[in-house]
Amino acid sequence: MSPATPLAPFDFERRELKDDDVLVDILFSGVCHSDLHQVRDEWGGSIYPMVPGHEIAGKVIRVGKHVKKFKAGELAAVGVMVDSCRHCKPCKKHMEQYCVEGMTGTYNNYERDGVNMAQGGYSTQIVCNERWVYHISDKLELAATAPLLCAGITTYSPLKFAEVKPGDKVAVAGLGGLGHMAVKFAVAMGAEVTMLSTSPSKAADAKKLGAHHFVLSSDRDAMHKHKSHFDVIVDTVSADHNYETYLKLLDLHGRLLVVGLPKTHPEVNPFELIKNRRSITGSMIGGTVETQDMLDFCAEKNIVSDVEVIPMQYINEAYERLLKQDVKYRFVIDMASLK
Ligand code: NAP
Ligand code: ZN
Ligand code: ZN
Repeated sequence: MSPATPLAPFDFERRELKDDDVLVDILFSGVCHSDLHQVRDEWGGSIYPMVPGHEIAGKVIRVGKHVKKFKAGELAAVGVMVDSCRHCKPCKKHMEQYCVEGMTGTYNNYERDGVNMAQGGYSTQIVCNERWVYHISDKLELAATAPLLCAGITTYSPLKFAEVKPGDKVAVAGLGGLGHMAVKFAVAMGAEVTMLSTSPSKAADAKKLGAHHFVLSSDRDAMHKHKSHFDVIVDTVSADHNYETYLKLLDLHGRLLVVGLPKTHPEVNPFELIKNRRSITGSMIGGTVETQDMLDFCAEKNIVSDVEVIPMQYINEAYERLLKQDVKYRFVIDMASLK
């Protein structure tokens, strides 16, 4: 209800189905650090009351009469956006997250009519245009697929954009929800993967996730040894930090792929950028076609998130644990606890 109050039960109605809408029964909802940033208004402009959640996995209950992609009873997923202008250049290229008019976020947004509030996945059902609803494989554990809709696509998309290939040296900064998916994807793409973490206790897990090396980012000597070493670094860090720490580690034409969204905007020394002709590239989730590609890739390679399933009533404690970097590696709410 406000940035300073804990999450509490809230009743609201979903809008009526339009002809191209799908009604999804939400079974699992992932807990992203972006939920916490927005609930606590860390990025500014939050709209209340807010129902967070943009990693949604469930089952189709009903479809509008023009819906072609789905039938009642099928598994379905919804991610970080639910609409866009549909006619600008990025939208035509199915990169709706970069819509010129702005995408419609799954929550903390008004729908395109400017009247209805978009509300997210910490709820029992959602109504969404079929373009923003995805198929998920029944071969994967459903609770563990929910985080693919944000943590998954947000790390898959920049790794694809950077054309990561076998043998590339990829580092991932921050072993949380996004970080653990970045490790899995980079490994699946054949890269030599190094975890850069502030938590010594996560070394064994990083290896279990498939990382080949682990470097404690507070260990100056170890960081120094990796100067000008990596082709790509995925920065998933949620807290304020210095980008130069990671920039220095990039080899010739290396890219720092920024996906983490801390509150304070860092300064960057241009001398660190011109060295090795390094670049910093931001990346925001992924478009509708790429999201389905990512889900199909996960089904083929048997990739899911490592999850701790919680009841809805545990959410405030889960947020506190998220701030203490104490999650392995994504909380997922079992929505049966709300029904
Ligand atoms: P998370 O699970 O809380 O993980 C963040 C990780 O950052 C932590 O586990 C920790 O890893 C590291 N970290 C925390 N404080 C740090 C510090 N002071 N210095 C260095 N590292 C620190 O969060 P998440 O859900 O993965 O989200 C990560 C960020 O991505 C958030 O800011 C979120 O809003 C953003 N995000 C962006 C997009 C996008 O489209 N670009 C999409 C989703 C989320 P270690 O313990 O290993 O150090
Ligand atoms: Zn997210
Ligand atoms: Zn658009």
